[in-house]
Parts: sequence; C-alpha cells; structure tokens
Amino acid sequence: MMNADMDATAAGGEAAALHEAYALATAFLASLPQRPVSQVPTPAEMAVALDEALPENGRDPAGVVGEWFARAERGITASPGPRFFGFVNGGVTPAALAGDWLASAIDQNAGLWAGSPAAAQTELVVLRWLQELFGLPAEWAGALTSGATMANLVGLVTARQWAGRQLGFDAAGDGLAGQPSIAVVASSEIHLSAVKCLGTLGFGRNQVRRVAARCGAADVDALAGLLRGIDGPVILIGNAGEVNSGHFDDLAALADLRDGHPGGAWLHVDGAFGLFAAVSPRLAHLVRGIERADSVAADGHKWLNVPYDCGFAFVRDGSLLREAFAVGGAYVAGGAGWDPFTHVPEMSRRFRGLAAWCALKAYGRAGYRALVERCVDNAAAFARWVDETPGVELMNPAPLNIVCFRLVRAGLDELASDELNRLAVRAIQSDGRAFVTGTVWQGRAAIRAAFDNWRTTPADVRLLQEAVAQVGASLSA
Ligand SMILES: *Cc1c(COP(=O)(O)O)cnc(C)c1O
Repeated sequence: MMNADMDATAAGGEAAALHEAYALATAFLASLPQRPVSQVPTPAEMAVALDEALPENGRDPAGVVGEWFARAERGITASPGPRFFGFVNGGVTPAALAGDWLASAIDQNAGLWAGSPAAAQTELVVLRWLQELFGLPAEWAGALTSGATMANLVGLVTARQWAGRQLGFDAAGDGLAGQPSIAVVASSEIHLSAVKCLGTLGFGRNQVRRVAARCGAADVDALAGLLRGIDGPVILIGNAGEVNSGHFDDLAALADLRDGHPGGAWLHVDGAFGLFAAVSPRLAHLVRGIERADSVAADGHKWLNVPYDCGFAFVRDGSLLREAFAVGGAYVAGGAGWDPFTHVPEMSRRFRGLAAWCALKAYGRAGYRALVERCVDNAAAFARWVDETPGVELMNPAPLNIVCFRLVRAGLDELASDELNRLAVRAIQSDGRAFVTGTVWQGRAAIRAAFDNWRTTPADVRLLQEAVAQVGASLSA
C-alpha cells in the first residue's frame, strides 16, 4: 500500500477514495432489504474489530475507507433500511443522500453569510419551506440544528430570555445567579432531551414540575391547578408526539393556559416527529393549536428522512432568539445577509440545509404527505395485528406512527412478564429480521415499533409480525 501525503499531490487520490466510498455505499444500500438489521455485536467484539494504536504512517485514502468498512461492518446497523423500527429513526431518501454527499464535497461553513452565501440563503429557503409544510406562521424565525435536542435548546433558551425579561433581567447576558427562579412545567412524558436542555440552561434537570399524562397526553386540569399555584412567569413544555406511543398534548388547551396565566407563560412544543402530523389533512387535528405556541422543535433526521444530523426550531419572536445568542466580535461582524450563528449555539456549522433542500424540492408537499400517511397506515396495520393476535397486546392506542405493545402469557406475574418482554426485545434484535426497542410504559416493560422510514412496505410490516410471533413462541417454549 502506498503511503498518503497531505500535500497538493494528494488530489489524485481523491477520486479513487470517492469511488471506493461510492462502491461501498451503493452495495450497502442495495443490500438493505436482505441484510440483517443488526448483528448485535458485543462491545468486546467491536473493540477487537477496530481498536489499534494511532498509525505512525498513513496509507492510501481509498484503502482506508475500504478497510474501515470491512472491519466495522458487523457493527453497522441497517437503520436506513425498511425494517428498523427502533427509537424513532428515519431513513434517507435518494435526494437527501445526494445533497448530503455534495455538502461534504463542497464543505461550506454554514455558520455565517460570509462563509457561504449559498448555504445561508439555502437554509433560509428551507426554513420557509418547512414553515409552509407545517402551517407555521411565515413571520416566525427559525434555525436548522443537529436534531430535536438542539432544537429544544433553541426554543428553551429563547423561553429563558423571555422569562428573564419578564422579571427584569437579561438571562443570556447576566446569567441566572441571584435572580428569582423561573418555573418549568411539563407532563410526566416530557422527553429526556428537553430535561437534558433544562440542565444545560441552568434551570436544573430536577426542577421541572410534572403533571400526570393519562394515556400519554398531559392532564390539562392538573396543569391548570399547578399553574394557579405559581405566581411568576412559567415555561410550559408540551408534547406533539410523546416518544413511547405517539400521543399528543391538547396544544390548544395548553395555549389557553398560557394566555390565562397572570404571571405570563411561554409555550414550547416538542414536536420531534409529531409535527409531521400537520403534513396530512387526515392527521392535522392532532397538532391543532400548535401555531399558537411560542416555540416549536422538530427533527429532520426522523420523519423528513434526511441524514444525520438535522433538526429545526421555530420561534415566534425572532428578536428574543437573537438576543439569546447574540455575541459581537470584530472578526465576524456584519455579513451582508443572514448569519445562522446568531440563531443557534454553534458558530461554524455543517451545511445540513442542502440535504433538506434537495429532499423538499424532489418530493414536495405531496411527497411528504404520502410518506407520512404511508407510515401511519403501516403503524395502524401493525397495531391492528397486535390487537387481534393472541399472546400480544397494545399498551396504549397508536394515534400516529409508534406502536407500544407487549407479549402476554397466562400465569405470569408482573415481574416475570416484564422479564419476558425485556428478553423479547433482545431476541427480536438478534433475530435480525426487524429491529425494535424496549421501554417502560406506566411501570411495565414494553416494546416499541416506530414507523417513519420511506422504504417500509406492508410486506416489511408482515415480516415484523412474523418475527414478533416466532420470538414470542420460542420464548414461551
Ligand atoms: C427524538 C426525540 C427528541 C430528541 O431528538 P434528537 O434528534 O435525538 O436530538 C426529542 N423529543 C422527542 C419527542 C423525540 O422523539
């Protein structure tokens, strides 16, 4: 193998390396329908496959790419394939993938206008298209982020700025120390990413006050009661799609509570995947009232089916958002156009807007409506099968694209039943036909299947059913 140098002569190796990556990628994509979704390797097996000392001397880039793939392959999950139903992972459409490759090749810094007018303007257009797709007001500000966690952070940092202003201080400028506390209220089904943000923002992960969520949706009367006991400004976090079974808070009712709170309130909605209900007239009732929120977070790498990583935040009051992230600096002063870094935590950023632009342009509103409805139909078909099949039961109705279920066996007590379902998750993953993940729903171990991949067909849903049925039968034997 030749040794690679990083001088101008290296350009010759570029095409060879890209060809190698292309060959590996196309072979991988072609294998998705047959490939085991996961081989569930152990950490020890992956360490044996990959760990080594830093090489003193290099080798040719094409060889490096090929070597990595061969050594890591056992640990590559077929998550862009049609039968990965774990978490809420999305797939990657051809248009998004091509856009993402091009974004890496042209390597734009999408942090500021001066870094790339093309990237900054593309992001602006993508944000406006997304606002149109979801029916959010065009005057809102937005930002592309690395995912819904960072989109939650963008919304909540703006909420913190608003609350500080209500109390007479500048939260981003002067910090929270010595200031009156700001109440954060949510349901028991608040996503852990939002909890993580509350820790990052200085509110404290343990300070969020939670009301019960019957069947996944916040108990509005309990929320009203909680708010009555709070004098000052409140940050209210609602769910548009909780992660275990896809249920929605009554967002219009939450907006009413926000409007009625004497101390003022900010409504932030986590719509990581659930915001996509707005794309279908059949499902839009689930997000009724979301346009009354103060900030909304969602994911691109879930239901938009663009590659990791991509999310987006929308904020009603763009000036508060900019205040929250404003920093002056002579060397980045004043681009002629939009500087994305004034709306997000980072400075330099990946040009993730290109994959989203290509996807929205290639498939349009109608394409996304069809995708969302197909996924919801697949989820409904699976939920119906669960409902009708002895030995499995639904934990909660499935209003959108996540089915929460469990295996049931006569004569098992709660503990044994929980153990059976934990074993079943691992056994289904090891089986390789389909990938599901486990959870705990209202104190009981359960299994989740999420449907948000453009490749999934009804035949894939039947394979999932077969895998669940066979694993269930063999565990009972
Ligand atoms: C996935 C998810 C998040 C976190 O999103 P990331 O993209 O993983 O950062 C937040 N909220 C909900 C409801 C989610 O499903």
